[in-house]
Amino acid sequence: MRVLMIGPPGAGKGTQGALIAAHYNVPHIVMGDVLRDHVARRTELGRGVQTLLDRGELVPDEVILDLVRHALIAARTAGGGYVFDGVPRTMAQARAGYQLARELGMVAHVALQLQADDEHLVRRLLARAAIEHRSDDAEEVIRRRLALYHQVTQPILAWYTQRGILVTVDATGPAKQVGREVLTVLEAIRPLPARAS
Ligand code: ADP
Repeated sequence: MRVLMIGPPGAGKGTQGALIAAHYNVPHIVMGDVLRDHVARRTELGRGVQTLLDRGELVPDEVILDLVRHALIAARTAGGGYVFDGVPRTMAQARAGYQLARELGMVAHVALQLQADDEHLVRRLLARAAIEHRSDDAEEVIRRRLALYHQVTQPILAWYTQRGILVTVDATGPAKQVGREVLTVLEAIRPLPARAS
């Protein structure tokens, strides 16, 4: 099973993505974690993107696509399935990511949209900020990340609708309930055995 998680910050992509990855036994690739790991290890890439992450701005598409290419190749070796969280976030990433995936025989079966309204998301993210101390969970940075989601990421959804792979789940309920709904919709579109991965 190959899934792209799309949703605003705070919608629960991480939690639900982990659930899906465990359920289908596929790698869970969390782009925010990959980037934060580079920052923590002070790699050249990490030093280059730290300020962008702290401000809630997007990392350049070329940097993301290079990481996506590596992740896709590793996922192919690991059995061919994946859950991507946090990618694509721009139309350019969506299109170039699709080309990369096609070349590797790794095109997504589902784009799973987690939906929730902004005020709900801000409340959740501020609560998380109190626990996790992420550098980008201050209220003005949260609002910037949400604005970017609406401007830059949301337009991609229409493209997935056209391709017939978009599925939307209401993410406002408790995590367990959202998780049950997510697995129910994914089971309904599980790839045919010949392509199952
Ligand atoms: P959230 O979805 O809660 O905003 P993430 O952990 O997914 O947080 O991402 C954190 C930050 O990492 C983003 O604000 C952005 O700076 C960077 N980032 C993650 N994924 C991408 C991407 N696909 N394109 C550009 N920047 C990204």
